[in-house]
Amino acid sequence: MNKTLTMKFGGTSVGSVSAIRQSAQLIKSAKADWQNVIVVVSAMSKVTNLLIEGTQAAILGQSKRYQSIADELTRMHSDVIFELLTSQAEQDHAYGRLTAHIDEFKSLCHAIEILGEASPRAMDVVSSLGERINYHVVAAHLREIGVSAEAVLATELIRTDSVFQSASPDMLISRQITQTRLNPLLEAGSVPVITGFLGATEHGAITTLGRGGSDYSGAIVAACTDSHELWIWTDVPGVMTGDPRVVKNARTLPKVTYREVSELAYYGAKVLHPKTIRPVLESGTALWVKNTFDPNGEATLIVPDGSPTDSISPLRAVTAIKGQTMITVEGRGMIGVQGIAARTFGAVARAHASVTLITQASSEQSICFSVPTSDGRRVVTALEEEFSRELHRRDIDSILTLDDVVIVTVVGSGMQHTPGVSGRIFSALGNKGLNIIAIAQGSSECAISLVTSATDADESVRTIHELIVGEN
Ligand code: ASP
Ligand code: MG
Repeated sequence: MNKTLTMKFGGTSVGSVSAIRQSAQLIKSAKADWQNVIVVVSAMSKVTNLLIEGTQAAILGQSKRYQSIADELTRMHSDVIFELLTSQAEQDHAYGRLTAHIDEFKSLCHAIEILGEASPRAMDVVSSLGERINYHVVAAHLREIGVSAEAVLATELIRTDSVFQSASPDMLISRQITQTRLNPLLEAGSVPVITGFLGATEHGAITTLGRGGSDYSGAIVAACTDSHELWIWTDVPGVMTGDPRVVKNARTLPKVTYREVSELAYYGAKVLHPKTIRPVLESGTALWVKNTFDPNGEATLIVPDGSPTDSISPLRAVTAIKGQTMITVEGRGMIGVQGIAARTFGAVARAHASVTLITQASSEQSICFSVPTSDGRRVVTALEEEFSRELHRRDIDSILTLDDVVIVTVVGSGMQHTPGVSGRIFSALGNKGLNIIAIAQGSSECAISLVTSATDADESVRTIHELIVGEN
């Protein structure tokens, strides 16, 4: 019998009574094949968004809005509790937890309303409530279908730094405390059901690992327990060649390398949180992405870089992130001047924006990069401050912005050894009259990114996708 399996269920996989039933059956059947099964669960889908919306309403003093969110959250979860759970004792327990957490939500929103602001630390307490409500429900349902299960709060397992909203785990301590807490449960044949998304500092303050961070939780727990495999259960058939909403003939990729999946995750393919890879890579845990709603259907195995992926084409998948702003810092006075790039990105960092793509032409007359449009204004203001003297002296002529652009990224580790790949991509786009605004290729040669206008984006994705499926 196999030894240890960690399974992580995302928001849609635990987002309704039928989804929880389905996920629980998957856990039950895994328990028949594996000695130890560990489960990590997200909040029900939409819940984290609602919680965050509640805090924003509180900041603005809209108490009616957060009250009505509290009611909506109560209704969503109590509907599930009373329909899914059958025993009075389990219902009472889960409902008791729910009402306690909703009270916590209301008090926190009230406090935020009085303060007129929400610190990152307060945000983590609020935004983790969805997981803290839901894991009780999943554990209770497992017990009712005959699987011995215990709800375990990740604050007891995952020790993080105090970078609230984007905390990083201390893997050594986490490993130690996770094993101390989980080993007795596993030895007794029980399935721990753990909250995704959150951890705690050494002083016990709740932290979160960033939006979509339950995948990362799954990887941390899998690594800390020396799991042989980590299965990420989601609502799509594994890692696909393209977004099926944009390209009709998207296909599941049976094998994808760590590097490829990281690039895809970074560039907007929402299959895996980008930080998921590192812990499992280091622990040698096999990582699968599977579809809860078609459990025996196609799935993707993430394999170490350099492993064969059974693909003929060097191109594997194409993805797009919308809502980007291109910013160009331009001027003849920049030629050969040292420190312009450092100052540019220093200003971006001070604006707390993350750069999604960078290009610079060799004449050094301009540096061009993109940020999410929501950060665009702040970045431009920071750049204008940073370069006020150069702008005044006309060494820098202008800081230009282009809103509403899209980064289209083609990924494939085989590109490294195949000349002519970018040529084929550009010809295909050119033949259709699709305009490329900027290009960037990392030196790893595992991905090429193009910037297009929002109007050309979907067609560019489809054109590149034809090259992918045409060759596979
Ligand atoms: N519930 C969290 C979020 O929506 C974490 C996750 O689902 O992965 O961001
Ligand atoms: Mg997710």
